[in-house]
Amino acid sequence: ALRAEIRAWRGPAATRDGAAIRLLANVQDGAGARAAAAESAAEGVGLFRTELCFLTAQTQPTLEEQAGLYAEVFAAFAGRKVVVRTLDAGSDKPVPFVHHAQEDNPALGVRGIRLASHNPELMTRQLDAIARAAHDAGAVDPHVMAPMVATVDEAAEFAAQCRERGLVPGIMVEVPAVALMAEEFLQVVDFFSIGTNDLTQYTMAADRTSGDLASLTTAWQPAVLRLIARTSAAGMRAGKPVGVCGEAAADPLLACVLTGMGITSLSMAYSAIPTVGVRLGKVTLEQCRSAAARVVEARSDVEAREVAEGLLR
Ligand code: PEP
Ligand code: MG
Repeated sequence: ALRAEIRAWRGPAATRDGAAIRLLANVQDGAGARAAAAESAAEGVGLFRTELCFLTAQTQPTLEEQAGLYAEVFAAFAGRKVVVRTLDAGSDKPVPFVHHAQEDNPALGVRGIRLASHNPELMTRQLDAIARAAHDAGAVDPHVMAPMVATVDEAAEFAAQCRERGLVPGIMVEVPAVALMAEEFLQVVDFFSIGTNDLTQYTMAADRTSGDLASLTTAWQPAVLRLIARTSAAGMRAGKPVGVCGEAAADPLLACVLTGMGITSLSMAYSAIPTVGVRLGKVTLEQCRSAAARVVEARSDVEAREVAEGLLR
């Protein structure tokens, strides 16, 4: 019966008592975006991982080449929200045309937005291409966010570069420093998107690619939940949206908890959207809020999950 319900689900997502939460798709190219638009009730794209377009590119794509690729995603979701992430190259996602120095700890090295200080043209060309693509596809309010931001100065410089081009600037919350200083960051950007995969990795000091550390690399760890809760609360006080785009968003139970924390959108593989949508429709906002308040008091990931299961039946 549940499976039929999931198959029949059409969105938009809301709790049983009608509190809306936007479910968005994570995509990596035009074909994926068209599939997400055709086959799911995604209200938009919450994370376009642009580096995945270039995993085999030996030379830096021209402005025109990049704009063509990005325009496909804007066109697939014409009239809907699209959040483009600037190149998150390095560490687990090396890109051939980006020079990556040999590093002992690439996850803690020159990756994401840090590449821009070594090679500013990488960032400016990409932002020019995103602006061109948004213009060509007639996109309204194109959102752009930077990965792996750690300091307010990085965020402020990125935001200025976006605004010059008519792009709405945001950052990913992946480094605990950003969650801890959310108020300051929210003074310079217009939105946050929490990348729970990296936020968990850096909070728990546990490699996200390590199978041996799976019990540490879950966003159910109370330390991670506390960082998410404080980030979301800061967003609400500032009146700015805070989404989640890591794997946590696709966990139906955790999605309810995140909703209770005040998270405004959840972005996930589009195939996960109906399952999350159905789960949210079975609980009230009050249930989500009490689960959110309780999980941050748990002593372990296991306890946090049990508490949430008990309150979100
Ligand atoms: C994340 O870190 O949670 C995220 C969404 O980005 P990626 O998985 O691409 O690093
Ligand atoms: Mg990440």
